[in-house]
Parts: sequence; structure tokens; C-alpha cells
Amino acid sequence: MTARQPKPGELEPIETASRDEIAALQLQRLQWSIDHTYQNVASFRKKCQDKGVHPDDLKTLADLAKFPFTTKSDLRDNYPFGLFAVPRERVARVHASSGTTGKPIVVGYTLKDIDTWAGLMARSIRASGGRAGDICHVAYGYGLFTGGLGAHYGAERLGCTVIPISGGQTEKQVQLILDFKPDIIMVTPSYSLVIAEEFERMGIAPKDISLKIGIFGAEPWGQGMRQEIEAKLGIDAVDIYGLTEVMGPGVANECIESKDGPVIWEDHFYPEIIHPETGEVLPDGEQGELVFTSLSKEAFPVIRYRTRDLTRLLPPTSRSFRRMDRITGRSDDMLIIRGVNVFPTQIEEQILRDKRLSGNYQIVLKREGHLDDMEVRCELQREVSGKLSPDDVAAIGKELQHHIKTLVGISTHVSVLAFDSIPRTQVGKARRLIDERPKQD
Ligand code: ADP
Repeated sequence: MTARQPKPGELEPIETASRDEIAALQLQRLQWSIDHTYQNVASFRKKCQDKGVHPDDLKTLADLAKFPFTTKSDLRDNYPFGLFAVPRERVARVHASSGTTGKPIVVGYTLKDIDTWAGLMARSIRASGGRAGDICHVAYGYGLFTGGLGAHYGAERLGCTVIPISGGQTEKQVQLILDFKPDIIMVTPSYSLVIAEEFERMGIAPKDISLKIGIFGAEPWGQGMRQEIEAKLGIDAVDIYGLTEVMGPGVANECIESKDGPVIWEDHFYPEIIHPETGEVLPDGEQGELVFTSLSKEAFPVIRYRTRDLTRLLPPTSRSFRRMDRITGRSDDMLIIRGVNVFPTQIEEQILRDKRLSGNYQIVLKREGHLDDMEVRCELQREVSGKLSPDDVAAIGKELQHHIKTLVGISTHVSVLAFDSIPRTQVGKARRLIDERPKQD
């Protein structure tokens, strides 16, 4: 594998600008973004007024710390369009991601936002070693997820030939890779290994696979997995980070020449690391929760959005922007199962819909091959336990599995047990989550 280095003149000037130039641009954009949000989003204005802070108080970048945070519950409370900062008619597209309950969180983009996003994704693919003329196989999910369309527009912008296959159908993925000979694949890291295994099964060696670069994100992965993917597909594997609330994929992307953590596109997203409990801003290098403020978004600006992702900020290397370290965990209970975000409360909500179930449950996470597998263990109510036929019990499980699949978006194994099968702790609370997956390095 030979890392593709950027040629002189290939980068945008801001990617190699001085830190002073970057800070000046950030301050100017931050003042615009805070003012735009304050003028157009009533709930943000109210939170500022409650805190006694006004956009005019933002004189330096450090003044951002005076402003209130935005959280997932702000998105839930303003579902679906309450946080949009432009009239709905100017919103060209919406995307959605998991909320903590049945309703997803919804974000919007003006045409200019989509243009900015495509530009940043093109920059991300170029940082990964992609170039105009490459063939790019996009196996991230299309639809309400940001992954598929985000990657698609970026690859087109860069000048690639895009194969919009979306996720799933492993045999077809492999067939099209063999037939179309793409240079780049964009997919979750865990699914790339499923594809690699299909190649192995067919007896196709890594050197005979056309792919040169893989751009992997949407879930945590470590150095061990990088080495495994690189060896099995014969590619360079780079990390892409993003989240729907802030834009989608392409908030940060690793550079192929250094592979030392995603570079944050700081000209559009201002990062902070905070103490997850006190909210205090921590210095660069310290581990804490990542917070982003959008600097250019029109339809759905976010001010100090708490990502709940735990990491730290690292100094610039291959570009003038700071980098982020790998995500080491979350400061909430969100799970990422095959790239899909899942909150235990979403599963609980579906269990509680069925009055024959006790509401006591456990989620058991395992890894089958390379993919995560979720088992939902629930139990019957005392009154019906032991009185239903095995067929009736099986039907309850099937129904729950169907609700979780259609409403939460993931396939699970459901076990319906007799009343009191799930152990309670002494205070009467069940242990909800049992994670048996091997740890990533
Ligand atoms: P995505 O399409 O990136 O999954 P979502 O909004 O559905 O977008 O999920 C965003 C979350 O996914 C992030 O907050 C983070 O927890 C996780 N995530 C995204 N990219 C990465 C990555 N490269 N490494 C680790 N976690 C990631």
C-alpha cells in the first residue's frame, strides 16, 4: 500500500493557512452563526436570555463558553422543524437520526448547506487519497441516514464516478466491486470485513481486488481493525467522523499520509472539549466530551452541540487544523449497532407497548463474526406467565422483533422468558445492558 500524498496546489488554501488566519475566520463566522441562530431560533434566544448572554458578548473565540449548550433533548423538544433557522420553504432536504425515544431527530439543509457539505466531503475524500477520476463505491446506507447521500454528493463534487449501491446484499457488493473495479470504498468498518470475508470465501486475493482506499466511519474502530481491513482488502484505511446534528459525515477526516486521527474541518465547525459533568471547557489534549458549533450552516445551525462522544483534541500535523483522537466512549447510553445508533430507551418503549410483558428486560450485545448482534431478553407478566402456549409466547417475541426492526431500525433476537427470569439487583433494578463484545484497541 502506498499512501497518496497531496500534490502542491491540490489543497484548499485554508487547509494550510496559519493558525491566526484560521482563528480570524472562525471568529468572524462564529459571530455570524450565533447571531443568525439568536435571531431565527426562538428556543436558543430564550436560553441565551435566561443565561443573560447576547450575541454582542462574543468578542473572542473564548467568549463562546458563555453561551448555552444544545443537546439531543433540544432536538426532541422542537421536533420536527422547530430548530430550523430559515423558513421551511428554503429547506431543500431533511435527514434524520435516532432520538432517545420513538421519534427521530430531524435536521435540515438549504441548497447552500448541501453545497458546503458536498465541498467538505470532497475535501474528506481527497484527504483520504481519493482523486477526480476515481471510481467510488458508496456502501453507506442511503435514505434518511446522512451517510449515503453525504458520501455521494462529496464523491461527485470531487469528480469521481459514484456507485450508489447503499448497504447490504454482500454478494452483490462483491460482484460489483469485481465488475466495476472501484478505487475507493465508503462503508462502515465492520461491514467492510464482511465484504472482505466474501472475497476470501470466493478465493480472491487482496492483490486482485481493485480497491485502493477505504473511508470508514459511523462507528468506533481501532488500530487492530485498521490493520486487519488493510491486509484483507489490500487498501489504505482512513477514519471519517461526523454526526447528523452537526452536518453528517465529513465533520472530520483523517489524512492518508499520516493516519493519525481525523482532522476537524475547523473552518466550518468549531470544536471544544468539555468536562462531561461540569460543562467546563478543558484545554487541548485533555480527554472529555466533544462539543461542536457550526460556523456556516444556514438551515440547522448548532451552537455548542454536545455530541456525547468522548475524545481529545490533538495538535495539527498534515493540515493546519486540529485533529481529534479516536472516540473512546460516550457520555450517554447510546449504542452503535452495525452503524445504527440505538438508545436502550427506544427498545424499552417497544417492550412497554405489549401489556403481556413485564417491562423488565435486558439487552445483550455479542459479536457474531465481525458484526454486532443484539439479543433482547424480556419476560412475561406474572398473570400470564406459564399460562400461554409456546406458540403464543413465540408470537409475542416475533411481534416485538418486528416493532424494533421497523421503528428502531435494527434486527434483533428476542427471547421471551417466564416472569422473574431476569435477575433484579438488591435495589430492584435490573442490569439493562450486558456487553459481551470484545474490546476494540
Ligand atoms: P453517522 O452516519 O456518522 O453514524 P449519526 O448521526 O447516525 O451519523 O451518528 C453519529 C455518531 O456516530 C457520532 O456521534 C459517533 O458516536 C459515531 N461515529 C461517527 N463516526 C465515527 C467514527 N469515525 N468513529 C467513532 N464513532 C463514530
